[in-house]
Amino acid sequence: MSIRIFQTGWNYSQDGPGNRLLLHFQGCNFDCPWCSNPEGRSVKGELFVRPEHLDSGVCPHGAVSPTGLNRKICRGCSTRECLNQNRNQGISFTATEYRVEELLQMAEESVPLFFDGGGVTITGGEATLQFEGLISLLTGLKERGIHTALETNGSHRDLERIMPLTDLLIFDLKHWNFPGVRDVLKNSGYHVIGNLQKACSQGINTLARITVIPGFNSSTRDMERFADLFAFFPHSDSLSLELLYFHSYGRPKWEAIGQTYRGPETEISEDQKNEYKAIFESRGISIIST
Ligand code: SF4
Repeated sequence: MSIRIFQTGWNYSQDGPGNRLLLHFQGCNFDCPWCSNPEGRSVKGELFVRPEHLDSGVCPHGAVSPTGLNRKICRGCSTRECLNQNRNQGISFTATEYRVEELLQMAEESVPLFFDGGGVTITGGEATLQFEGLISLLTGLKERGIHTALETNGSHRDLERIMPLTDLLIFDLKHWNFPGVRDVLKNSGYHVIGNLQKACSQGINTLARITVIPGFNSSTRDMERFADLFAFFPHSDSLSLELLYFHSYGRPKWEAIGQTYRGPETEISEDQKNEYKAIFESRGISIIST
């Protein structure tokens, strides 16, 4: 069984405890206009261009010129010399296929680096789109005693099957109002709230993470509805809540895959952050704010 990955890397204590190996699964079922990893959205993968390294010599079909890459020509190209015999840094392909055994070996070899309670974090894209591969990988990691974290948008109908395989479920909650935001996300998110409720009621160690996006989920009313939602869930030590704030660091990557950035132009102010914190605290809900 194989899994498509668009990026591997490391971080410390941002997506789970300790030092962690991150595996970004290719493909997503949401269409968030502010996505900070747009190269991971397509299920098949994308040609990723670094203009400063682009060289017309990599393409025998005339798709590369001083103005950039003509992707219309690439769409009909089955030989893809730019990725095979003429490889250079100017064009790469985001998706790489790994066998599950290869990923498990990568994790095993990384065990000495999993200090301070670290392990493997699986993120995306949306990892549950490669559901059976994900289950196989998580099972193998658990068998090896490696700490597992899964970051998900919570939309998969069978997410419950995966919950026992995760030491930490990072539940990326886009909005309180599913399916009301269907037009923005291009997905009804029908199972999202139910899945979060199941994780809470089953005592799954869950970090609910709200990324606050200007104009999408950032109004006072939005925060009150989020707080109402969390006040409704069973209170337990297994659930914590984090607010992250939108940034546009991923913007250049939209150009690199030949698409137009459609996200916000503004950021969340310090006054707004303080207001959000007060709304949650007034309902007895403490938040991690980053
Ligand atoms: S995908 Fe084909 S047409 Fe496009 S740059 Fe590569 S070789 Fe040229």
